[in-house]
Amino acid sequence: MMQLKEQVAIVTGASRGIGRAIALALAGEGATVVACARDVAKLNELAEEARRVELPGKIIATPLDVTQRTAIDGVVEQAAENHQRIDILINNAGITRDGLMMSMKDEEFEQVITANLTSSFWLTRAVSRHMVRARYGRIINIASVAGVMGNPGQANYSASKAGMIGLTKSVAKELGKRKITCNAVAPGFISTDMTEILSAELKENAKKIIPLARFGEAEEVAQVVLFLAGPGSSYITGQVILVDGGMHM
Ligand code: NDP
Repeated sequence: MMQLKEQVAIVTGASRGIGRAIALALAGEGATVVACARDVAKLNELAEEARRVELPGKIIATPLDVTQRTAIDGVVEQAAENHQRIDILINNAGITRDGLMMSMKDEEFEQVITANLTSSFWLTRAVSRHMVRARYGRIINIASVAGVMGNPGQANYSASKAGMIGLTKSVAKELGKRKITCNAVAPGFISTDMTEILSAELKENAKKIIPLARFGEAEEVAQVVLFLAGPGSSYITGQVILVDGGMHM
């Protein structure tokens, strides 16, 4: 079963962590994946891995800094020209610049909003032009449980992720008539570079408030994204799916 045969997906932040797992999952179902990030060496490794394990789809290493709007427009136009379609957009690239709100610098706030939220708007706007023409599309925004609950030390990050949820719902309402769905996935604690830097104490305390009592794996997020990107989710839009081991319920 190749659910995504002949479909084209753009995945941001595909060089590692959750984005990498999403790219592999989509290519595993036959999609051609335009895999974007700044670290070209890691993207090339990913594309090579897809070939080595003979995934039915293809991964195309595509350098992109999502904080550069003109670069985003260029990548989207190139993808549309090369493949004549863009079916799926996964806004996954994200950063943290943690610190208490009262001492947070303007640039720490702005950098996170630009990399996480504004980039998602830019990509969605650019890609939706092609989806509207095709009368089909699946847009999936990787938000965070922090965007739903808030988190001390993450005013910038939580605001960016709550913004992505608002963006998701508005886009779902604007584009639903054109058969384009837009949903958000909100992970809790997932084992990647982003959480690797947390202190051992914080990690232990986090596990105490997670009913499943462990961190999630990137592949567990990717499976939910795969479902939302595929035919099984055709009547789901504007939703926020928490993948957090039950932390928020
Ligand atoms: P990682 O830090 O492991 O990976 C982040 C990815 O984003 C990398 O591929 C990085 O690529 C890319 N990225 C960062 N900045 C840019 C940029 N300016 N332009 C292009 N790509 C960029 O994070 P995760 O895999 O853990 O996180 C993925 C998403 O999931 C993020 O949006 C994050 O907020 C969200 N999330 C993660 C959680 C977790 O516990 N891990 C929990 C909740 C949400 P490169 O450096 O090569 O550019």
